[in-house]
Amino acid sequence: MDILNIENCTIRYQEQEAAVEHVSLSVGEQEIVSIVGESGSGKTTLIRAILGILPPGGTVTEGKILFQGKNILELDETSLQKLRGTEIAMIFQDPITALNPVITVGEQIAEVIRLHEKCSRADAERKACAMLEMVGIPAERMGEYPHQFSGGMKQRVVIAIALACSPELLLADEPTTALDVTIQAQVLTMMDDLKRKLGTAMLLITHDLGVVAEICDKVAIMYAGEI
Ligand code: ADP
Ligand code: MG
Repeated sequence: MDILNIENCTIRYQEQEAAVEHVSLSVGEQEIVSIVGESGSGKTTLIRAILGILPPGGTVTEGKILFQGKNILELDETSLQKLRGTEIAMIFQDPITALNPVITVGEQIAEVIRLHEKCSRADAERKACAMLEMVGIPAERMGEYPHQFSGGMKQRVVIAIALACSPELLLADEPTTALDVTIQAQVLTMMDDLKRKLGTAMLLITHDLGVVAEICDKVAIMYAGEI
């Protein structure tokens, strides 16, 4: 069964022309699906609609967004909030700014685990350690602050935080655009690894067609709001 099914979706900002028009797209279990396309083609709009976080003025005017068979567009805010960060996690464009500069990276990962699993502080810390190692950072760096990490490592931490609550689906909006080209490829390859280890399905917006060809099961090309 598909984990995500976007059916004939049209999204508009106020009275403007549709930003996304009659788009259909599905993500199967443990699949990595990628969306590529020029700036302004509607990628961010589409991925935000899945979480119900369109900017003010944006509305889905037609279609369905089914997550595990349930139409997200019919959920109330409370149910949506429950979905976000537990079953669906998102990494935003320029995600490095998402880290808190005055809290250690280990604590930032552990906090998400505690919120999600209601486990003890010590358990959360152990799991945070394991998460950090899974994204290729030695556990002894748990107690360091974001500024002590390189851009690529900060991005790995952001991914660890997104995956810490074991989501079914990870949405990522250009998660590597802020990084050097060689580091971009490393981070994307690592995400492929994580998919294999954790079984998380991913919908990935990226410009890196080379890596897309290597790690994705399906690629959707967006142009002027259409796939
Ligand atoms: P992409 O992520 O592919 O660069 P976007 O989804 O950001 O594309 O934008 C798609 C279209 O929607 C563009 O025409 C853009 O101008 C418009 N748009 C995006 N965000 C807003 C907004 N907050 N208000 C009005 N129009 C917007
Ligand atoms: Mg965008």
